[in-house]
Amino acid sequence: MAVHMLAGAGYDCNVYIITGDRPIVVDAGTGERHARTLERIGKVVGDGPVQAIVLTHRHYDHVGGAAALSKALGAPVFAHEADAVPVREGSAKGTEALMFGQRMNGIEVQNLKGNEVFSTGDHELRVMHTPGHSAGGISLYDQEHGILISGDTVFAGGVGRWDLATGNLKELTASVRSLLALGPRDLYPGHGPCALGDATDQIRDAMRYLEE
Ligand SMILES: [Zn+2]
Ligand SMILES: [Zn+2]
Repeated sequence: MAVHMLAGAGYDCNVYIITGDRPIVVDAGTGERHARTLERIGKVVGDGPVQAIVLTHRHYDHVGGAAALSKALGAPVFAHEADAVPVREGSAKGTEALMFGQRMNGIEVQNLKGNEVFSTGDHELRVMHTPGHSAGGISLYDQEHGILISGDTVFAGGVGRWDLATGNLKELTASVRSLLALGPRDLYPGHGPCALGDATDQIRDAMRYLEE
């Protein structure tokens, strides 16, 4: 039972591998370090299949590498339906690839609506729709182990920006509040360090910032 964190370097987001008979990968980074990411995934999951690549949201620093990872792992890509659109279309504007000085190639993406459960064997991860950083942002929550993977909705002691396309401060505040209410133990955010053991305190700090 484990969540393996591949800490993002450069513009890359953190990439997570959730173990089990049917492991999943959460987010893909920009793709700039594809070979290294693939090697690290291989070290964790071995030769077995990866069930899915789940994208927390539409931004290029999370989705740019999804096409190459999907192909290499033979795993389908999932995203919330609101954020799947620009990823599928390869929209440089919709994915903010432009902001990173990059182009985005469209890829096949399966829609999530929220409340789906990815079962890896070790972990049951429920999809929570947490908009605000983008319209189709999701978080994944393993209630049994108190594990929250939050994308760019909330970080250890901070929140994601809400000024990009489809971002919304009111929605972000409601989303962070709903994550706080879960009372998670461990937080694995899209950027920066994870918070092991004190996730709820870290999210409470983030919430205070939003309420100021
Ligand atoms: Zn990000
Ligand atoms: Zn983002």
